[in-house]
Formats: sequence, C-alpha cells, structure tokens
Amino acid sequence: MEQAQLAYFDYAATTPVRPEAVAALTEAAAQFGNPSSRYEFGRQAAARVGADRETVAKALGCAPGELFFTSCGTESDNWAIRRGVEVNRRKGKHIVTTAVEHAAVLETCRDLERQGYEVTYLKPDRAGRITVEQVRDALRPDTALVSMMLVNNETGAVLPAAESVKAVKAADPAILFHCDGVQGFLKMDCPLARLGADLIAVSGHKIGAPKGIGALYVKKGVRLRPLLTGGGQEDGMRSGTEATAQTAAFAAAVRASLAEPERLERTAAVKEYTLLKLKEALPRLEVISAGDAPHICAVTLPGYKSEVVVRVLGDQGVCISSGSACHKGKPSHVFAAMNLPKPWLDGALRLSFSPDTTREEADRLARALKDAADSLFTTLS
Ligand code: PLP
Repeated sequence: MEQAQLAYFDYAATTPVRPEAVAALTEAAAQFGNPSSRYEFGRQAAARVGADRETVAKALGCAPGELFFTSCGTESDNWAIRRGVEVNRRKGKHIVTTAVEHAAVLETCRDLERQGYEVTYLKPDRAGRITVEQVRDALRPDTALVSMMLVNNETGAVLPAAESVKAVKAADPAILFHCDGVQGFLKMDCPLARLGADLIAVSGHKIGAPKGIGALYVKKGVRLRPLLTGGGQEDGMRSGTEATAQTAAFAAAVRASLAEPERLERTAAVKEYTLLKLKEALPRLEVISAGDAPHICAVTLPGYKSEVVVRVLGDQGVCISSGSACHKGKPSHVFAAMNLPKPWLDGALRLSFSPDTTREEADRLARALKDAADSLFTTLS
C-alpha cells in the first residue's frame, strides 16, 4: 500500500522522516569526510557534527559539551544505566525503576539483576501513574541509580520525573537519576534538561529523523565512563566514527519540529477529536489513558483480541498498535502492570499522533474500528 493511502496512528513507534531531514541526510552523506581526519575535508565534517550537536543540545536545554550522539535511544538507556550504576559502585547495588519503562530500560535492569544488582520496580496505578512518594519510599542507603521515563510510550502518562529528581537528590545527592526522555523530547513544553536529571536519553526517529541516531545528555560533572570504547570520538565518551549523515538529519528534524507552529496544541486537539469520534462510533470502547502527553493515548475494546484488530485495520491501511512496537505480539507489560481486567488487557490498543494527523484520518479510524468490532468475535456479549 502507498504511504499516502495510510491513516497512520503509530507515531510513538516511529515517525515519517521529515523532508528537511532527508535533504540534510543526503547532503551530509555526499560530504563523506571523516571528522577525525586532520585535513580540511575532515575538519569540515567535524564542524558540521559540532553544529548538529549545538542544535540538539539547545533543544534539550543543555550545553553542547553535555550531549553525546549514540546510535539510538536503546543505546543511550543502556549506557546511562550500565555505566551509571558503576559511578556509585561503592555505594551499593540497588536500582529503582518503574514497571512501565521501555524494554531498553527493563531488560538492562534485568541483565544487571543477573550480575548481582537488586532492582525495585515501582508499580503504576490503573491510569499508569507513579507517584513521587513511591520513589521516595523505595530509596535505600545502597541505592545507586533511579531510572524513570518522562512519557510512557503506551499510555502517554507523564511520570513525575522533575519532582522525583528533587526527592531523590534531597534524600541523597549521590544517587544518579536517569530519565528515558525518548517519548518526551520535543513533545513537552519544557526542554528536558530542566528536569534536573543527571542523564537523559533521546532518539531521533521519534521526531522525524531517520532510525539509527540518538543522544545521551550527561550533566556536567557526572563522571560517566563510556560504554563503547575505541577511537575516542565524542570527546572520548562514545567511540565509533561519527554518523555524520544521521547527526545532520537529527539536527534538521529538531529545527523543523521547533519551527512547526503550535505543534503540541494541534497534536493534543486531534487526539481529543479522535477519542470523541471513537466513543461516538463505539459505545463499548473504554479509554485506558487519555494521555497527559499530547501525542499518545490508550483505549480498549474489552473482550476483543487487539492483535486481530490491529491486523484487520492494518489490511485497510489504518496503522495502530496493540502496545509498544517492541513487543512483537507479546502482551504489553505496561497494561499488565496497570492491573487492568483481562478483557481490557486483551483489547488494549495504543494510538499515537502528530501535528499532521488529520480529522479525516480520525474519522477513517473510527469507521474501520467500528466495522472491525461489528465483524469480529468478542468474549463479551
Ligand atoms: N524508550 C522509549 C520510551 C521508547 O518509546 C523507545 C522506542 O520505542 C525507546 C526507548 C528505544 O528507542 P530506539 O528505538 O531509538 O532504540
């Protein structure tokens, strides 16, 4: 099916690559110099990566020297957590995180458990929310690191990262605070560095850059060791020849996003319209989370099988998701952690939006979902 025929409601999985990013990618790829080379052609490439870093750092609200390019959000999360706990290795081997984190965080924590770390997974309420009190209560004298996402990728719930940073630092300033900001970057009003976290992970393909580029913010003064060692690129923090085409595209996508008038308000408005239309068309539909963030919400058709619904809609060019794209058919650990009743869990769907999502697409989604509900089997009558 042609892209133009799609009604796309899966912007939390990935976003279309912006034309500005494609142009920057192509131009930078043609200028193939290695930023580490000592001749002019290499120096030009280094200067371009420096300018890209400034652009992304400015959008995050940090200094360019605090921002390191990586290959993706997953690498940034791995780096932050694996090396973050080492910063406090004398302090202890306890980690606090939430049960609703992305697999990039959860699987890293599980791996650390196998290496002798102890992890507290904070449980969300029925709306997917976590409280500062939960974070505070979980801290121990041997806590090395707290990892909390800003925006949940399946519910759109905004977690109290800024308040939690304050609570954690008040309890013990040595504890490192990592925030997975992948779904929050440029989707929230405030630049993410203002959260006060020591480490923040972001990813390019969620904001209109191609896949294969991310970044980690490391607050000045945090003595994080590199995860990848080698040629000492990225100021010795992340070895590997700089992905000059990707960094150019990342910066271009950031600029294009920031230039979009009222992007957050438009996204929130089309999400609200969609939820309204869905409720009108499908009286049985329940909203799991309307989402605090403008671009994500979760609904359920109780008793239906969400994978089947996703497939039926997909066949018609309507792209939605039964949870994070990373689950590949397994039930969502986020919805499961929220203790939803089984029929709700079975029928859970994630919808995610951009400022370019139209009301016509929303109407098409409502029609397609109604037709699917009318024709498919449900365990509830
Ligand atoms: N963290 C969150 C909250 C995400 O939604 C994702 C991707 O879906 C990631 C991390 C991983 O980012 P990437 O796909 O760039 O590895």
